[in-house]
Amino acid sequence: MTDSVMTINGEAVSGDGTFDVIDPATGAPMGAAPQCSPAQLDLAMQAAQRAQGPWSADHESRRKALHEAADLMRRSAQDLGPLLTREQGAPVAGSVGQIMISADWLDYYADLELPEKTVRTLPDRTIEVSRRPVGVAAALTPWNAPILLAAWKIAPALAAGATMVLKPSPYTPLTTLVLGQVLAAALPPGVLNVVSGLEPLGRQLVSHPIPRKISFTGSIPTGKAVAVAAAQDLKRVTLELGGNDAAIVLDDADIDRIAAPLFMSAFANSGQICEATKRVYVPERLYGRLLDALADLARSTPVGSGLDPDVKLGPLTTDFQRDYVEELVEDAKAAGAAIAAGGRRLPGDGYFFEPTVIGDVQDGTRIVDEEQFGPALPVIAYKDLDEAIERANATMYGLAGSVWSPDVDRARTVAARLVTGRVKINSGGLPSPEAPFGGVKWSGVGVENGPWGLEEYTDLHVTEVGAGPQ
Ligand code: NAD
Repeated sequence: MTDSVMTINGEAVSGDGTFDVIDPATGAPMGAAPQCSPAQLDLAMQAAQRAQGPWSADHESRRKALHEAADLMRRSAQDLGPLLTREQGAPVAGSVGQIMISADWLDYYADLELPEKTVRTLPDRTIEVSRRPVGVAAALTPWNAPILLAAWKIAPALAAGATMVLKPSPYTPLTTLVLGQVLAAALPPGVLNVVSGLEPLGRQLVSHPIPRKISFTGSIPTGKAVAVAAAQDLKRVTLELGGNDAAIVLDDADIDRIAAPLFMSAFANSGQICEATKRVYVPERLYGRLLDALADLARSTPVGSGLDPDVKLGPLTTDFQRDYVEELVEDAKAAGAAIAAGGRRLPGDGYFFEPTVIGDVQDGTRIVDEEQFGPALPVIAYKDLDEAIERANATMYGLAGSVWSPDVDRARTVAARLVTGRVKINSGGLPSPEAPFGGVKWSGVGVENGPWGLEEYTDLHVTEVGAGPQ
């Protein structure tokens, strides 16, 4: 069993009691996390507030501390990877990779600056625009990629000169808690505080009077509740929410070449990625071949405990997510869909569900219309490309999507018509630190990453300098 501590004002702090963390591969508790009391949350917020002035005042120290934090994070990856797998489920190579890649965000933001600009020079005055840190930020992360999504918040916030109180999901808090302690060796006390707990801790973070900024990654319903709570105090928000990404296969696609990357774009991390492919539109002519190719891949991909090095897909992270995926698959079956591969939970106490490929399914079925966030992929035949694009866009989700064709120019014209924050052409690649990541419509408000992600932790500030009287 792994027990952990919170990081408040640079110190290791036990909670007001603990709660169990479950290993999704076994369904049994594998650790306990501290429950942060309201008084401890106050201490964390006050520590962040005290630290913010000195932290923001010295850019060079910030730069050095963030690079050192990146080094510490990289060095901890081999040790922490198995812990991340035991609480989240994904194969251990991916967990180690997630921690390694998260360090890239710290390095990238350490060196990113937002220079002051003179926007107008007049005979009698100049007008300068700069950005100031937003103060204390409260950050809330989900269970599907706890470390990467925390790094997307920690790195830009701290680089901007803001300080943070971070709360990981209660389903996967342990690795984030340990990282809080690891990074405390590089950061001044109070700059990054990590607390954990069951609800109402998230609500207490969002409604606390100290933070001026809430950065939230999670589901659309919770994101809406966070927006409402933040509005009571007019706090700034960044909301990174769910998606129902469509992959559109064009009629010139080479099925043998695209099947494997398309499969992984949907099934990596057992489908628990916000911008995973969640529905595929394919021309009628190619439908049978693509369905068979995806079904073959689903049947041949090893599923099991993420600690087994041969396993490619682990369990779902929570029992309720496995139950939800099962509910959507059963609903599709009842609506007349054909299960081309998988379709059932695996026996045993772990939260496993067979990689599932679903044919003979249409828009209007829940598995197509809702975010399944799991290893079950509907494949939908289309007659006409315009109609496929229209169906891809006929949703309140707008996170990302993909287009598959050897004719990149043609794919670009389709990509330009998808109403999403991001579109990938022949790619299921991970977002990079340099490019903004965020959704439109209900998939989010604001962005993370790149200079735009840094701006989200700042307020604009205008200085007007007159020529006289001196
Ligand atoms: P969730 O909304 O249940 O929880 C997210 C975080 O909010 C957790 O830390 C949780 O403890 C906390 N929380 C719960 N209730 C709260 C409340 N009332 N007020 C404040 N905080 C509260 O999300 P989840 O189930 O952990 O994550 C899965 C969802 O996240 C999926 O919809 C997925 O698409 C989305 N997601 C989006 C992105 C993105 O970048 N757009 C990335 C990853 C995941």
